[in-house]
Amino acid sequence: MARGVVPRQPARTGRQDKVRVARVTAPAKSNQGRNDRKAALPAPKGAVPGQKSGDKPGKSPKGYNPVAPERIAEILKRLNDLYPEVTCALTHASAWELLVATILSAQSTDVNVNRVTPELFRKYPTLEAFAALTPEQLEPDVRSTGFFRNKSKSVVGAAKKIVAEFGGQVPDDIDKLLTLPGVARKTANVVLGTWFKKAVGVVVDTHVQRISRRLELTKESEPQKIELDLMKTIPQVRWILFSHQIIWHGRKLCIARKPKCAECALENICHAGDKTWSTVDMHKNAVG
Ligand code: SF4
Repeated sequence: MARGVVPRQPARTGRQDKVRVARVTAPAKSNQGRNDRKAALPAPKGAVPGQKSGDKPGKSPKGYNPVAPERIAEILKRLNDLYPEVTCALTHASAWELLVATILSAQSTDVNVNRVTPELFRKYPTLEAFAALTPEQLEPDVRSTGFFRNKSKSVVGAAKKIVAEFGGQVPDDIDKLLTLPGVARKTANVVLGTWFKKAVGVVVDTHVQRISRRLELTKESEPQKIELDLMKTIPQVRWILFSHQIIWHGRKLCIARKPKCAECALENICHAGDKTWSTVDMHKNAVG
């Protein structure tokens, strides 16, 4: 190796604040990684949207607008290429089942919830069957999803209220949904978007929260404020699909502790400060 040439390596710590352009051999040898890299678009030379040369590392470059329409369009296009037909991963056959599954998914995983719900809906096949229960009766059936006392109260309380006030039908109206116990905007948006196909808001779960910050679509950390930022930035026609895509991205690649940046098709337009591999400037404040 010629004297003075020091090869760049991806930081093991995931903190690469000093790295500007680290052209390194992509790690990850799994099949999954190969498949994902196939989907990745090549980094166009010097064409990182919104970025100017000569900007200091670690800072957002002067004039850089992370929510410029052309950058948003590029993010949405790449998400479409990666996850063209994704939808909610919670198993359900009705608005009520989706509502129950979403309530149970708080602080749990969809896989975990999907293990519980088939038997749950076999045992209590109608909304009225849930409404006839006490929370204590439901607790053993949902125990494995965690926080089972609160979740039982919410599910039984929601069933009773829907029977008493909404004629036994899950309402397709956000204001009415928000009156149900255990239902906040995230749950309401899941039901409205996935079942009723109504784009009233953007689902902000832990994945959307983290990745929106990494992609600099928001600086906020509260879900409601993040949702407002996303509603301003993402075209309404994409609200439903966008959140599904980001949730899948968060599960597959943009995971919380060690995102698989070297395999990510968004890599050359992502300046997250906690990337594990980067070919572009990283912005200290853009962390998940
Ligand atoms: S490059 Fe890394 S941090 Fe950015 S979106 Fe992809 S996986 Fe997430």
